[in-house]
Amino acid sequence: MKVATTIAEVRREVSAWRQEGLSVGLVPTMGYLHEGHASLVDAAVAACDRVVASDFVNPTQFAPGEDLESYPRDFDHDCAVLEEHGCDLVFYPSVDEMYPDGGGKTDTYVEILNDMPKQLCGKTRPTHFRGVCTVVSKLFNIVLPDKAFFGQKDAQQLAVIRKMARDLSYGIEIVGCPIVREDDGLAKSSRNTYLNAEERKAALVLSQAVKLGQSLVADGERDTRKVVDAMTQLIKREPLARIDYVDAVDAITMDPVDAIDGDVLFAMAVYIGTTRLIDNFLAEA
Ligand code: AMP
Repeated sequence: MKVATTIAEVRREVSAWRQEGLSVGLVPTMGYLHEGHASLVDAAVAACDRVVASDFVNPTQFAPGEDLESYPRDFDHDCAVLEEHGCDLVFYPSVDEMYPDGGGKTDTYVEILNDMPKQLCGKTRPTHFRGVCTVVSKLFNIVLPDKAFFGQKDAQQLAVIRKMARDLSYGIEIVGCPIVREDDGLAKSSRNTYLNAEERKAALVLSQAVKLGQSLVADGERDTRKVVDAMTQLIKREPLARIDYVDAVDAITMDPVDAIDGDVLFAMAVYIGTTRLIDNFLAEA
């Protein structure tokens, strides 16, 4: 596996592959890789001739006061995971390489202007998806992949990227991959490392709420409010948990919905102590 720290190196590598007629998959990440990330690399390796992973903690998707500085990093471990899973190239740029004006700032953003990025996580993180769209759009321009792989764990991000790719005619297939969980159900996340032992136990309320919601839907409940209320009550029983949101939205547009008569995303963000965790499930009509 090669490591590239500059845009020029990535372009050189990818254009050599292109000349050989090889297809290219992209897996964008912020590093501190776990099996969730590895599953995206596996999917990319299975679907594409060559795979590029990016490893970049993107400053424009963090608001002041969020965890940009403390976000966990371990590039050596990331390389070992990527290599083991068959990644061909890791793009590990500096902040200045990605944002040449310096200081992780940019004057040019890619932003979806409808309500989609304002729902769910957008309510407490109003500038988050603008940063995500901007960095992913830059990565698309740098790598020019055939396919790009994203986790269903960040369901709103996946929906936002699909919309952006369509609106901007990227011609890149956006592939969604299932949520990878710990044995006890907790969705794998780089941020799980912030949890102490007590919080780690309390964090199970998220996946328990997912299971409860899934079972209500499986039993025939079609009223999203009833499902959301039941999930909310379950989470509220955990003293270390503080709900940011539990909500039901159209799986494509992210608009709030009252009934399950199309594909519905049930999503939540919950603070466990000071750590904000997310989880979700899809209910199909
Ligand atoms: P991150 O490094 O947290 O920005 O995540 C990079 C990519 O990995 C995103 O597309 C995430 O949705 C995906 N991802 C993170 N955690 C998981 C997980 N537990 N299962 C599947 N995909 C994941």
